[in-house]
Parts: sequence; C-alpha cells; structure tokens
Amino acid sequence: MGALTPSTRVLTGREQGFATTRLDALLGWARKYSLFNYPFVTACCGMEFMSVSSPRFDFARFGAEAPRFTPRQADLLWVVGTISQRQAPVLKRVYEQMMEPKYVMAFGTCASSGGFYDNYATVAGLDKVIPCDVYVPGCPPRPEAVLDGLILLQDKIASGVRTPGVVKPREDPAQALVQLRTKPEAT
Ligand code: SF4
Repeated sequence: MGALTPSTRVLTGREQGFATTRLDALLGWARKYSLFNYPFVTACCGMEFMSVSSPRFDFARFGAEAPRFTPRQADLLWVVGTISQRQAPVLKRVYEQMMEPKYVMAFGTCASSGGFYDNYATVAGLDKVIPCDVYVPGCPPRPEAVLDGLILLQDKIASGVRTPGVVKPREDPAQALVQLRTKPEAT
C-alpha cells in the first residue's frame, strides 16, 4: 500500500489498480504542483527572486515554473520588496483580479513587515492590504529560505490549512554567532 496524500490509499494484491482518496485531497495534491506565478516586484529583493527562478535554484522543480503576466491567470502572488502607500491600492487591485483559490507569499522583510522603513511612505507589511499565506524573512532572503517557504505553502495547499506560516531560519542566528565567536583562530 502506498500513499500520495495522507488520505490517499493505493490498493495492492487482488484490488491492484485502484486508489481511493477524497476529492479535496486530490485537488490539493494537484494544485500544489501547478502554481502559476504573478511576481509583484518593487525593490531590491527582486535580484534574489531572479536567483530563485534561475537554473541554480530552479523553483520549476516544485511545479512553480510558469510566470503569468496578468493576475487573472495566476494563483500565486509573490510580493517582492517594499510596498509604498502609493502602491498599496495597486497591490489590492492585483490581488482582487486573481483566480480562486489564490495564495500570497511575502518575499523578504520589507514585504513581510515594512523592514527598516519606519516612515509615513511605507506600508508596514503586505498583510495591511491583502491576506498573506507565507512570510519569508530576510533582507533579502536567501534562495534556500524562499524554497523553504514554497514547500511550506505547498504543504498548506495540500492540507487545506490557510493559517499564515513563517519560514524559520535553518540555523539559530544566536547559536551561529556563538559558534563564530568561539571558533579557534586559524594558525
Ligand atoms: S528586504 Fe532588504 S533587500 Fe528586500 S526590498 Fe527590503 S531592503 Fe531590499
């Protein structure tokens, strides 16, 4: 017996050739591997977004290859960079034009919280304007962190859970600093 999703069973033996599942589980499994991207790129995080989509990191491996140049054909909105007050209505309009079900990734600290721009011109995170599914902190985030965020989103799509998630660092920054400080000097 094998499992494609937690609720899917592939039958073997005399029943070989049949699988049982729930319809929503099957749709979630299909959707998580067929994401159509709409990048909303406003600032320097855009350089790292290009890196993630390049062959070295290759998010096509996760079924998230196809960019769309109209939000009407997209179901994954990448908000990449700082959002100014003037851009906020545009972002909301883009989100409203997307198909259902639709998902949002906050790419970088500025998109997640406004970053270090604590001023009247900057929106303190995209969730002041639209809902967000996954936050990827970092200034800019490393491509590995973005891929972690994409996998986290896929898990949410497959399970149907829409509570927002935050990508955790792969190592504890405080511990990494301690290790760096206690590292013996090279001779
Ligand atoms: S998080 Fe850093 S790299 Fe990304 S847009 Fe803000 S300032 Fe630029």
